[in-house]
Amino acid sequence: MSKLPLRELYLDELRDLYDAENRLVKALPKLAKEAESQKLSAGIEEHLEQTKGHVDRLREIFDAMDEKPGGKRCAAMVGLIQEGDEMMDEDFEPGVKDAALISAAQRVEHYEIAAYGCVRTWAGLLGEKEAENLLQQTLDEEKETDRKLTALSQEINVVAVSGAAAGKSAMQDEDEAEVPRPRAKSRSARA
Ligand code: FE
Ligand code: FE
Repeated sequence: MSKLPLRELYLDELRDLYDAENRLVKALPKLAKEAESQKLSAGIEEHLEQTKGHVDRLREIFDAMDEKPGGKRCAAMVGLIQEGDEMMDEDFEPGVKDAALISAAQRVEHYEIAAYGCVRTWAGLLGEKEAENLLQQTLDEEKETDRKLTALSQEINVVAVSGAAAGKSAMQDEDEAEVPRPRAKSRSARA
């Protein structure tokens, strides 16, 4: 059997991503519905629209290479989505469910960031300039999403740790720029 060149690995990983992105298009609406924070729900909805664009970019790359995008199952995305579903079945305190959602979403983003970084680099090495450019755009969007999730987690984790009562005010003050902080220990406690 002849050995496979880089182009075959590149195509294989693109197909893996194509399957992963399509699974996300199906999974994200449910996650957006599950979110308690309006900001988080809106953020997931926004990423759903971006994700449809990621599918389109991959299709464009396959078209240009005269190849078909289907035929591969991304086992990692199947597992990541399943873990997210399992988390959503738990009965969490206010804020904790959103913390869980962010943690599931960031696992997905990090998988995609790793995968897009690789295929982007291979596209460059294979002289696929247009594909390299398209893959870089998607990579940038995945990284930006990850950064936004981290920023949001700084608000939501505070809600999660301080429980339902503190949660209400922190979750409703969506326009409040100041991130609520956990109460500092009293002087007497420190003394
Ligand atoms: Fe994506
Ligand atoms: Fe995969």
